Amino acid sequence: MFNLHKYCCLSFKITILGSSGALPAYGRHPSAQLVEIQSRSFLVDCGEATQMQLMRLQVNFHRVNHIFISHLHGDHYLGLMGLIFTMHLQKRVTDLHVYSHRGLDEIITTQLRYSRSAPAFKIIFHRLEKGLREIIFEDEALTVETIPLSHKIRCSGFLFKEKLKPRRIDKMKLPDGLLLQQIANLKKGDDVTDEHGNVIFRNEDLTFNPRKSRSYAYCSDTAFETSFIEQIKFIDMLYHESTFMDSDEVKATETKHSTARQAATVAELAGVKTLLIGHFSARYKDLSPILEEARTVFPNCKLAVEGEEFVIDD
Ligand SMILES: [Zn+2]
Repeated sequence: MFNLHKYCCLSFKITILGSSGALPAYGRHPSAQLVEIQSRSFLVDCGEATQMQLMRLQVNFHRVNHIFISHLHGDHYLGLMGLIFTMHLQKRVTDLHVYSHRGLDEIITTQLRYSRSAPAFKIIFHRLEKGLREIIFEDEALTVETIPLSHKIRCSGFLFKEKLKPRRIDKMKLPDGLLLQQIANLKKGDDVTDEHGNVIFRNEDLTFNPRKSRSYAYCSDTAFETSFIEQIKFIDMLYHESTFMDSDEVKATETKHSTARQAATVAELAGVKTLLIGHFSARYKDLSPILEEARTVFPNCKLAVEGEEFVIDD
C-alpha cells in the first residue's frame, strides 16, 4: 500500500527493524531502528539482520549517512559490518558517519583490512564519551544528543530534537510588494518595518504559529535510571528498553536491564506522550503480558516490534 508518510519530506517516523534482546528469538531480531526526520535517514543501532530488514522493508539504505551505535554488545552492532560491506559492493561513494563508544573504528577497520576491501566511501568515526550528554549531530533542522545510560559497558542513548521552526506566512493576508528579506524576517518572527524602523505590518497579523518541533529518545540498554529524566522531559516519543518483566526484576538488576514496569515509570516521570518498549528477552514468547505490565503504569505504551512504524505528527 502507498505510504504517504514515507514520501513526505516533513515527516518524523521511527521504523522498528529489531526488537529482540541479546538473542534473536521467535522471529524477533536484535536491536535496530530507522529514524527518518524531514528527509534525513538515521540508523540507530545495527544488530545482526539489520540489512536484511532494511531490504525487506524496501528502505534505500544508501540514504543513511549517520549511524548511531549505543554500545558495543553484539546485539547492537554486529550487523554493521554486513551493511558496510554491502554498501561497498554496491559502490557507495557518500561519506558514512558512525558514532559509537571507543573500539568500533578498530573493529571495522580490522575487518576491512583482512578482507582487503577498500570502500570507495569514507567511514568517519565519531567517538562518544562515557557518561556525557553532548550534541553529536546538528544541522539546520535538528540536533542529536547523547543520553548517558547505565549499563555493563559504556552506553549512550540518543535524543533527536527538531529545532524551532519558522513562523508560517498567512498567504491570504500577505500584502503585495513585500521584499524577500521582509518575508524572511516575518518567518523569523519580526515585524515588517520601513527604513526608519517604524512597524508597517505586525508579525502576528501576517503569520501563523510555527509547526511543532518534535522529539524522540532512544534509551537502550539501561538499568532503571532516573538521572536522565530531566533530559527527556515532555518529549513526544520515548523508546525505552524493557528486557524483562517485573517477575524477573532480580535478573534485570543483575544484568543492568529494565523491566516493563520500570520503563513505564521512566515514561511517567518524564511526562512523555508515547512510550515504545523493546529489547525483549528470549524467555518471553508472548509479548502481551509485557505490554500489559507497562500499561498499568503508563497507558500510552506500544510494542516496538519488527516492521512497526511510529509517526510523530506536527
Ligand atoms: Zn542489548
